[in-house]
Amino acid sequence: MGTSSNISILIVEDEPEIAQLIQQTLESEAFSCCVATDGLMALEFFQQQQPDAIVLDLMLPGLDGLEVCTRIRQQHYGKDPYILMLTAKGEEIDRVIGLSTGADDYLVKPFSPRELVARVRALLRRSLRQGGQSSHIYKTKHFTVDLERHIAIRQLTSHSPETLDLTTLEFNLLATFLSYPGRVWSRTQLIDKLWGDDFFGDERVVDTHIRRLRKKIEPDAANPTFIKTIVGVGYKFEDESI
Ligand code: CA
Repeated sequence: MGTSSNISILIVEDEPEIAQLIQQTLESEAFSCCVATDGLMALEFFQQQQPDAIVLDLMLPGLDGLEVCTRIRQQHYGKDPYILMLTAKGEEIDRVIGLSTGADDYLVKPFSPRELVARVRALLRRSLRQGGQSSHIYKTKHFTVDLERHIAIRQLTSHSPETLDLTTLEFNLLATFLSYPGRVWSRTQLIDKLWGDDFFGDERVVDTHIRRLRKKIEPDAANPTFIKTIVGVGYKFEDESI
């Protein structure tokens, strides 16, 4: 059965056909799955089973996905699972990204089984990284961040590689971006990553650090090509993968 067999995933979805599709898809990848059909059941299963990841539908009867997510993140014992939120098209997406939901990623319905597997695998790769069991180097076309050696390198086209002189916070910010190129981060999500529970203050502080990081990594900080502002939401790091 491959290496997935000891990884458990909780599926929270009230529509039986979708739940079944997700379960079949993930089980065929050798993940062990269980299904909760509403929010309360999800919380109960979460406590009993301590899954590695949760595929969580946003629209659920009773307790919705946002509430489930918030409650799971508030629990300070046991595993901190990776959460992939499922949303329907439309405004819900802004709610999921824009608010402090604590979801790690989201997927818009309808999605293909392949997409689902790719997202789940991407989340689990990140979890392995954080556990130090996998690569500690993030690489895109122009940037390399080595977490263990605490080195960030930029290589612009037709330039030689330069080691970037970053503060710890800027380094962590760049590493966060590189860990997931193309992902849109809300300010709240970046604060969670960078400060965790220790943060008190105005979330606009993120903008200040973004501005400083841009000065150090962008060829033209006034017209950023790598760290893009997503108006009303937050930021996105874009660079070609290699
Ligand atoms: Ca639903």
